[in-house]
Amino acid sequence: MNTRPVIPMARPRMGAEEKEAVWAALESGMLAQGPRVAELEARFAELVGVPHAVATSSGTTALHLALLGHGIGPGDEVITVPFTFIASANAVLYTGARPVFVDVDEASFTMNQSLIEAAITPHTRAILPVSLYGNPARLPEIADIAARHGLALVEDAAQSHGAAIGDRKSGSWGTGTFSFYPTKNMTTAEGGMITTADEAVAERVRLLREHGMKVRYHHDLLGYNFRMSDVHAAIGLAQLPKLPANNARRIEIADRYGRELRGVITPGMRPGVTHVFHQYTIRANRRDEFAERLRERGVGSAIFYPIPVHRQQPFVDLGYGAQSFPVTERLTAEVLSIPVHPDLTDAEVATVIETVNATAAELGPITAETPRTPETTTS
Ligand SMILES: *Cc1c(COP(=O)(O)O)cnc(C)c1O
Repeated sequence: MNTRPVIPMARPRMGAEEKEAVWAALESGMLAQGPRVAELEARFAELVGVPHAVATSSGTTALHLALLGHGIGPGDEVITVPFTFIASANAVLYTGARPVFVDVDEASFTMNQSLIEAAITPHTRAILPVSLYGNPARLPEIADIAARHGLALVEDAAQSHGAAIGDRKSGSWGTGTFSFYPTKNMTTAEGGMITTADEAVAERVRLLREHGMKVRYHHDLLGYNFRMSDVHAAIGLAQLPKLPANNARRIEIADRYGRELRGVITPGMRPGVTHVFHQYTIRANRRDEFAERLRERGVGSAIFYPIPVHRQQPFVDLGYGAQSFPVTERLTAEVLSIPVHPDLTDAEVATVIETVNATAAELGPITAETPRTPETTTS
């Protein structure tokens, strides 16, 4: 039996531009962090609309550095969500600080801003929302709360390159962190980026990225090697100009899914918000069986994420396991991401729609336990 989906979840494709750029970087003899990294930083800063961008070795090291850049360390608390990839919370632990989880809201899958203030203590130093699946978190509201309480805002924008609220981009509220892992909306194979308008933060993360060294072999503080290589930056420079068209294609496919899918809950859309659909995530009745039937019919799917962060072993070991986040826990049982990558053909999109609709008809429509609340308009 063929166990490989005919329509896969991702199809990272390297074109002639990427190959030529990598070859040129290899031939230049400048392999480690150099002019290509600097150029990628400048162009990414422009994309996000901030004065500073600092490239890193991964999205995880970008998060870790961003928190260090805001001076977060032992004894501090950082408010984040349990419905995310584990790196969002792990980065807090790396600094010696403690993550404090608040639940997400059902309509956006992102941090429920109405729960933040009750979680603030005298130890709270930062709020770390995640713009999950390419949907910007409620950043204007969260930025207001952060400002009112004198807290840093670090947005995990690993999945939201080019997403926006109005004309303001994800990564431009407080400090943003991006990932360039191969399945993300743009890639450098491995890599990450920190974006910020705060010059002091930018300077500190540059120093920490490079073993605390401004003058060669003079180390001012304990730093790291979290650099990106010029070979990886070359891939990113070839990928960056393709991002707008790739995002537009993702949005076009998502629009069609939103109009034509039946018997599943499709993602909520906020007026004026550009969701870039890193993932197109439905909620399905009898989700695991649903995924298995899609697989048998040649349609790939994936569960992001099957276990909430507070129930992952490292967090259970730290005593988080007994906490309860009802929306997150329900979503982890219902979410299913279906293919939405830009290389899908219209015929493949039609096949996904037919297959999902047929499967939902067999397994029964999903009924939300609570009525779906429409997302608030963010102007
Ligand atoms: C991918 C991802 C990360 C980590 O990025 P890496 O480049 O894999 O280290 C962090 N947070 C979220 C939400 C992600 O999706």
